Amino acid sequence: MKILCIGRNYAEHAKELNNPLPKEPVFFMKPDTALLKDGAPFYHPDFSSDIHHEIEIVLRVGKAGKHISPEHALKYIDGITVGVDFTARDLQQQCKEKGLPWEKAKAFDGSAPIGTFIPFTEKHAQGEINFSLSVNEEVRQQGSSNDMIFNFQSIIAYLSQFVTLKTGDLIYTGTPSGVSAVKIGDRLKGFLNGEQLLSFEVK
Ligand code: ZN
Repeated sequence: MKILCIGRNYAEHAKELNNPLPKEPVFFMKPDTALLKDGAPFYHPDFSSDIHHEIEIVLRVGKAGKHISPEHALKYIDGITVGVDFTARDLQQQCKEKGLPWEKAKAFDGSAPIGTFIPFTEKHAQGEINFSLSVNEEVRQQGSSNDMIFNFQSIIAYLSQFVTLKTGDLIYTGTPSGVSAVKIGDRLKGFLNGEQLLSFEVK
């Protein structure tokens, strides 16, 4: 399986990092070794002193597809949860300045903690989805699917032009504003429509 991630999908977050608003989705990938499941702890790596949390709605692909049209896109999704797209912001900044790819800053081991999946329903397809992240019980990030620059349908249609989606692939759909560094001892919790689906500690 692979993990596809969308960058700069919320205007307020693009602004806080001084990034221009994208005209088409920005995407990158993480390997399966980035996944952190079932509340496993995240071990803070030594190579960065500025690992940022990015809470995101995550979609799980339920059947394979290529060149998917926006109107059929949601039929390819069978699960939804929240996940954290950990980003070594210091390394990412160096990559950006040199015009290099971001993998070093985005794809490292444990950089994709993932919550418990719940079925993707008509309610998720039609309605607003609220999500949030707390660190040590304090809310740090809050988002709404209504604020996405590119919605689920356009993300799936766009990605599948370049990369065949396969069953079990995950799509991280971008983070709202409020990103900041984590430190050893922090407890992170992720919520989707008020339901806690993710909880883990930084060690
Ligand atoms: Zn992200």
